[in-house]
Amino acid sequence: MIANPPPWPGGARCAVAFSFDVDADSVVHAAHRAEAPAQIHALAHMRYDPFVALPRLAGMFAERQVPVTWFVPGWVIDTYRPQMDVIIGNGNEIAHHGHFHEWPSQQERIDEQGALEAGIERIRALTGAPPRGYRAPYYGLSLNTFDLLVEAGIAYDSSLFADDVPILLKTGNGSLFELPVPASVDDYNQYVSSRALDHLMTISPPDTATAVFRAEFDALWEDGGMWVGVWHPAVSGRPAQARAIAKLIDYMQAKGGVWFATLGQIADHVWRLTDAGLWTPRAETVPFYRDPVLR
Ligand SMILES: [Zn+2]
Repeated sequence: MIANPPPWPGGARCAVAFSFDVDADSVVHAAHRAEAPAQIHALAHMRYDPFVALPRLAGMFAERQVPVTWFVPGWVIDTYRPQMDVIIGNGNEIAHHGHFHEWPSQQERIDEQGALEAGIERIRALTGAPPRGYRAPYYGLSLNTFDLLVEAGIAYDSSLFADDVPILLKTGNGSLFELPVPASVDDYNQYVSSRALDHLMTISPPDTATAVFRAEFDALWEDGGMWVGVWHPAVSGRPAQARAIAKLIDYMQAKGGVWFATLGQIADHVWRLTDAGLWTPRAETVPFYRDPVLR
């Protein structure tokens, strides 16, 4: 049912990438600016990321030898530098998620470029290498984002619900891969009910939430697709939710035929296939429209 799945390494049925957006309280500062210090409840909620959830999740994934792609804003790296140690190594990847978690679509090109450069510099200082990938804060891409990513040497974006397998995005100045995320795997939709964060969902039992994630995985496994989890430590790193993730990993490992990889490894793989002529990705030119269709 998937038209054009790439061949996965080792004959795997599907690729699985666990990714977390380590926003910490950058989102509170980005949203409230001068008023942010008085947002005690929201700040405390998001500081759960570095102080409680990261060590728990990093340990759980390392125990199972499953790599994780951590999308971390530059400001979070600066502010919580000692807490970053647990997510470095163990085959993990650190990828770009803005600097202050700014909305790219609300920034001038020069400011978006500045945030991109600041985030790259922080990741280079943290890991010794520039990031390979990017996820737009709030999925809020601008008309300039893909051009800027290509100029900055970023190999992939992972922000769009565009397909079930990687696709090639062509810009005016080059190309990059989109590693699309399934539309139903964001944990905010399952678990977050917070007036302080202005997000009021009905909270799902972890087994119910995991049933949604697992159904996506089962379908993509059947069809040769790519499953990407888009989660947040302060949401999915709480005790019951983290246990549900551990059960999901156990389920995937027991089912077999899964290539557990970072998004960076998946990007490298599909670039290699494409360059060697072994697979031809669906291609889109971005942005899709420069001018309004209707006026
Ligand atoms: Zn985020």
